[in-house]
This record gives sequence, structure tokens and C-alpha cells, in this order.
Amino acid sequence: MFLDSLSIGFRAYLFLFPYCLVSSIYLSENEVHTVLIGFIRNWRRRSIIRNSSITNEQWSQAFAKLPLLKGLSLEEERRLYELAILLIHYKSFEAAQGLELSQDMVMHIALQACLPILNLGLEAYDGWVSVIVYPEAFVRRRQYIDDAGVMHEDNPGLAGESWQRGPVIVGWQDARIAGEMDGHNVVIHEFAHKLDMQNGKANGFPPLHQGMTTEAWVQAFSQAFAHFQHHCHGNDYSGIDRDIDCYGATSPAEFFAVLSEVFFEQPDLLKQHYPAVYHQLCLYYRQDPLQRLAI
Ligand code: ZN
Repeated sequence: MFLDSLSIGFRAYLFLFPYCLVSSIYLSENEVHTVLIGFIRNWRRRSIIRNSSITNEQWSQAFAKLPLLKGLSLEEERRLYELAILLIHYKSFEAAQGLELSQDMVMHIALQACLPILNLGLEAYDGWVSVIVYPEAFVRRRQYIDDAGVMHEDNPGLAGESWQRGPVIVGWQDARIAGEMDGHNVVIHEFAHKLDMQNGKANGFPPLHQGMTTEAWVQAFSQAFAHFQHHCHGNDYSGIDRDIDCYGATSPAEFFAVLSEVFFEQPDLLKQHYPAVYHQLCLYYRQDPLQRLAI
């Protein structure tokens, strides 16, 4: 493996040497280095995709099981399964509690996990390694302090969980039925937390792209969050809390993750209730599921 990498890197260097020589007249040493690293990384990724043992037929079958992916163009489908190949290669998919994790199950999770980063790139999931799959919802002892400063302890059953710089954990029982367009998707939920954690603790404020503004993001999300909390906590059955999981009212981080599920699974619902949030998520994810699914 090391020799293979070395060989690829060395060949890339030889190939790029004339380019580096010319560009060094115009670019700084750091910029030349960045170009070279990027080229080698892309070369390596192309090699991983080319040598993947998963066949096109297997990918077609995995796609067919996910209504969530409806409306993607052929070019988007190709990019999505290439991202999924890379995710499977670079992340460690591990089974817990005796689950037998098949390649089909890994593909099912990877395709859904890569939809949010279809136009962001694999780097959006940098900084962590493992995806742990439990057979079903798992129980974890949890301690927390309420608003009055009192310590509580509970043992909630969790469909999934994401740790900062740690693993993504999902229960197969829920991951298996994710992607059915019912507005609930544990895979997208947990991987959205990972995107949120790219700039620190999950807080519903992921790193924004050029052209987006903090003001517009905060205004859209804070107004929607206050509105959503009011409806969920006040038992005011206006319809929102029946359509969107009130777990999103527990914190801005959960609000971002829950609305990301709805953004991809039932975009019409999100646009209807919170159009400003829908617009921000289109800018953030660099895709418009409503437009895609309407085709
Ligand atoms: Zn969550």
C-alpha cells in the first residue's frame, strides 16, 4: 500500500514537474505545494474508484432501494456513487452488538450519507474515521444539567448519535428504513451533525460558504427555532409539530439536523413552513431537492 502510494505520488510529481516549474514563476511555493497535493489526492481517489470491487449493478440495486435519490441526473448519480466508494474506503464501517454488516448495508448507509455532501465534497467529512452500526436503537447512560442547575440521568434509546471528532453511530433498524421520504432519516441526521461539527461543537451553525452571510443564517434559523419551540412545547397542534419531529426543538443543533432530514426527504414541507430556512439550506448544501424531486 505504501509503495503503491509512493509510486502514485512519484508519478504525479514527474507528470506535474513541468507544470510546477512554469507555475512557480507565477505562484508562491505554498501555492505550488497546494496544487501538487490536490493533484496527487485526486489521482489517488480516481485510482480507488477505478479499483473498487463494487459493480455498477450493485450500485444500481442500492440506488433502486432509495426513493430519496429520485430525480438525480446521471452525472449526479455517478458523482454520488463515487463519493460513496470513497466514504467506504476512507471510513471504517464497524458492526456492534453482533450485527452482521453486509456490503449492501454499508452501501445503503453510504449513499444516504453522501447525498448531503454531493456538492460539498468528501472533505466536509474530514476529521473522524468510524461509522458504527448497531442492530437497533441503542441505549446509552446520559447525564445532563437542566436550566435550574439540577443534574439528571437517563438512559434514552437512541436511533443514532455523532461524537465530535469521534464516530457516527446509527441503528440499522432505523437506517434500513431511512430514505423512504417520510421526513425521518437517521443517516442524514447524524451526518448533518458531523457537518455542523466542522467548526467546533454542534450548535446548528456549520461553516458557511462564500456568498452566505451569518446574519441571514442566524435570522432564518433563530426565528424558525423560536416558532418551532413554541408549537412543540405549547402543544399547539398547528400541524408543524405533527409534520416535523419535535426532537428538533430540544436545541439549535438538533433543529439543524432534524430540518436537514426534512430538507432532503420532504422539501415541500420545509419550504411551506420555513421558507427562509429552506433557502439557507439550499445555499449550504448547494442543492435544491424540491426542484430535483419535482422533475
Ligand atoms: Zn441529533
